[in-house]
Amino acid sequence: MISPEIKKRLFSLFPEDSATDSPEDLLCYGFDATGIESKPEMVLFPTNAEQISEVLRLANEQGFPVTARGAGSGFVGASVPVNHGVVISMTRMNSILSIDPENLTADVEPGVVTADLQKAVEERGFFYPPDPASLKISTIGGNVAMGAGGPRAVKYGVTRDYVLGMEVVLPTGEIVNIGAKTVKSVVGFDLTRLMIGSEGTLGVFTRLRLKLLPKPETVRTTLALFNTVDDSARTVSAIIRSGIIPRTLEFLDRSAINAVTDYMDAGLPTNAEAILLIETDGSEDIAEKELARIRDVCADHKVIETRVAENEEEREKLWTVRRSVSPSLLRIRPNKINEDVTVPRSKIPELMKRLSELSERSGVPIVNFGHAGDGNIHVNIMTDKRDEEEYTRAKGARDELFAICLELEGTISGEHGIGLKKAPYLESEIGPVGVALNRRIKAAFDPNNILNPGKVANCHEV
Ligand SMILES: Cc1cc2nc3c(=O)[nH]c(=O)nc-3n(C[C@H](O)[C@H](O)[C@H](O)COP(=O)(O)OP(=O)(O)OC[C@H]3O[C@@H](n4cnc5c(N)ncnc54)[C@H](O)[C@@H]3O)c2cc1C
Repeated sequence: MISPEIKKRLFSLFPEDSATDSPEDLLCYGFDATGIESKPEMVLFPTNAEQISEVLRLANEQGFPVTARGAGSGFVGASVPVNHGVVISMTRMNSILSIDPENLTADVEPGVVTADLQKAVEERGFFYPPDPASLKISTIGGNVAMGAGGPRAVKYGVTRDYVLGMEVVLPTGEIVNIGAKTVKSVVGFDLTRLMIGSEGTLGVFTRLRLKLLPKPETVRTTLALFNTVDDSARTVSAIIRSGIIPRTLEFLDRSAINAVTDYMDAGLPTNAEAILLIETDGSEDIAEKELARIRDVCADHKVIETRVAENEEEREKLWTVRRSVSPSLLRIRPNKINEDVTVPRSKIPELMKRLSELSERSGVPIVNFGHAGDGNIHVNIMTDKRDEEEYTRAKGARDELFAICLELEGTISGEHGIGLKKAPYLESEIGPVGVALNRRIKAAFDPNNILNPGKVANCHEV
């Protein structure tokens, strides 16, 4: 519990409307996209690193937990303040500070919305590739903290590949600058990499330096329709084998197509068991040539037909449909266990076969879609929590899913992270020594376990 005296001190540090403890505000900052809820006792809206430093120093002195929050769009409960305390909303630190055209970098505050940064750099002829489907709401700080990925990861990599450095407030309240503005730097341990994907447990980012690329001249988009999931999965492997790395290579199974078609005017074909949404980019001739080769590969793998987006409007519509798949699934069942397992690309056909068997064996619908090009399939085990018996079967299916994924040399999370939801499974992938090492690193940064306790390696046990 935060005492009335501490609240008074925090209100004096955060004047006017930059602090709140009103019940309706607390309700809004205590959940994320998992639906897990736990209310904070106070929410602060800092505008600079010094304010955050003061809060963390006070938290260490008085022993209350602090959790940073971006847009709250996470899928694993990482921003939910399980131990209550203070939530620091980063949404008012939302300026793009500079775009450096010679060094191809952008300096931003962490509360910048991902799509706003993309738009700003594209207007200047640059490109910031990481594109989580939540990009219209998620923040860059949240993306960095979760190591977010997206459809373009198959060609361009994930958020991790675009962070050069940052200003961070450590859990003890010290402010530190890590990383460099240069393309290379090998000075000390790579703390920048350690911070990426640390889920708000090792520090609060207050400024991020990001790498940009030149904007590709053109993008070509095609939909490929298949009679079987197996044909589509084999096509994914064959495209990569043919020496082409497409800009995106997304997969939707029949249930995902049905769900999004019921949800919106999707304009998707109804005669396919699986769809691939494929893009190429670069100069006009290269994008066109690669698209033609990809269509040939599809033809070799029993494609029903390929449809090319004729203009930007058609292309944008296809992406809106793709990004709407996740929310549309709740029409199938009121709850979903949404996992983002990733396997080596060559094992996608085997994974898809095992998922179909798993759905049959467990008797729960499993809907699959996602970033097939990099082996990252979003597996949605659909259920109704009110039906205890079915929910138990659904959870059993999740345990089996993780076991299958590890057997196929995959990982239990490609981009959503561990947070609260996957903490019980962490050891199955990284082993007891890995978990102990994670805990020792957390303790070195945060000896009093103040910052976002209870996440990742069950940090509350430190
Ligand atoms: C419809 C939908 C689609 C999605 N699609 C994708 C996808 O394609 N790829 C993908 O990777 N994810 C996806 N996500 C998950 C989610 O959007 C990402 O994890 C995103 O990076 C979270 O950003 P956020 O700003 O909402 O962070 P939050 O959820 O608010 O926070 C996430 C974590 O970041 C920490 N954090 C936030 N800001 C800071 C900061 N400044 N300093 C330190 N720590 C901080 C928090 O403490 C928390 O641990 C999707 C979510 C939804 C709802």
